[in-house]
Amino acid sequence: MSTEVETRICKVCGEELPLEKMKKTYKYGKKYYSHICKSCYNEDRRKKHEENKIKLYLKDDSLKIHRKYKEVSSVKILSIEQFGISPINEDEVFVKLLDYKNAYISNYGRVLIRYGKKYCLKRKTYSADGDIEYQLYKNIYNYDTERWEFRKVAVKAWTLVVQEFIVNYDISNNKYCWHKDDDVMDNYYKHLFPVNKYQYIAIKNKYLEDRNISEKQIFEIINDVKYKPEDWTPTCMKKSICNIGYLGTNDADGYCVNSNAYRRWANMIQRCYYDKVHEYKPYYEPCTVCEEWHNFSNFKVWYDENNIEGKKLDLDKDLLEQGNSVYSPDTCVLVSHYINTVFETRGMKNNIVKKSDGNIYEVFMSLLGKRIDIGIFNSEVEAKKELKKYKEDYIKQLARSSKNKIPDKAYQAMLNWKVEIAD
Ligand SMILES: [Zn+2]
Repeated sequence: MSTEVETRICKVCGEELPLEKMKKTYKYGKKYYSHICKSCYNEDRRKKHEENKIKLYLKDDSLKIHRKYKEVSSVKILSIEQFGISPINEDEVFVKLLDYKNAYISNYGRVLIRYGKKYCLKRKTYSADGDIEYQLYKNIYNYDTERWEFRKVAVKAWTLVVQEFIVNYDISNNKYCWHKDDDVMDNYYKHLFPVNKYQYIAIKNKYLEDRNISEKQIFEIINDVKYKPEDWTPTCMKKSICNIGYLGTNDADGYCVNSNAYRRWANMIQRCYYDKVHEYKPYYEPCTVCEEWHNFSNFKVWYDENNIEGKKLDLDKDLLEQGNSVYSPDTCVLVSHYINTVFETRGMKNNIVKKSDGNIYEVFMSLLGKRIDIGIFNSEVEAKKELKKYKEDYIKQLARSSKNKIPDKAYQAMLNWKVEIAD
């Protein structure tokens, strides 16, 4: 006896399916099978849900991207007049490129190289697609030798200008750059727009049509759902951590939120913006995260370039810039917990102890709970001077013994480190 399975044809996909594959409905407590199959029904629901989210996105201006430049602190600017180099314009400034050897980029896209005490303009070359580029030495970790080394790379001028002078809201997808009036020789920062492939094509088409495109029109395209990356959904922009941090990428499979990079990132945001953390760690209260890193996927690009897989490293914000309170690609470095501890200046004044029997000061250094005695001195001034000297020498020595085991930017910062002891 054959058991005939009752089937029905789905009115959406047109497939003939067993009855239990159809969407069930209940009417007056009685079960019915509808004429839509379960998967078509779910797909339809998902679409409606997505459409609603997009409606909310379109209404909410805080989720849109706006033009924003990076603030360049004056301490980072190299004064070029003393080297006989004249600026293109009075607003041209050169800033150090942390990951490249002795290289500086200007907001007009020119590169300077330091040779000893001299600075020279770097000769430009051209990429296959006609962009201006430079041959520079980039500090990269070599997993075979387990050393940081400088490797020669060709790098486009606009990528360096964007990196230093413009807030880039989607670093992993913005592999293209629109130059004002389609002039790829012009790398002035105010004329550059980092965009993804779809946005670039849309901008270019609009430009070819009208022979002109305004900044407002460019940002209309950038914020248009049509030209977002394939996996983009409005959920990417939802400020899910401390009302500040957003994922920036679709994480339907939970791959991101289970990664080390994510934990590191969420931790950083919470240190800066979560009141509960400030209750027991008040020294994090003045700290902030740069705008680019509000986006997890941006942080991840940096993390992947700076992290060494298999090593346990700390995110340090004090080493490259003393007294810094901003987490950003320009101020952070990943180093061992040991090195990170050396630069903690909190509680350093406790390293000088006034003895009760007269004017005698005991000086020591503490590292990861270990005490190193420095000596006994007759005045507080002398005690401070010796502590400063000892610690600076200690850091220089540590730098030399860590050379190539840490990124070059960390090594350079350690050699130039100045110890300051608060009263
Ligand atoms: Zn169906």
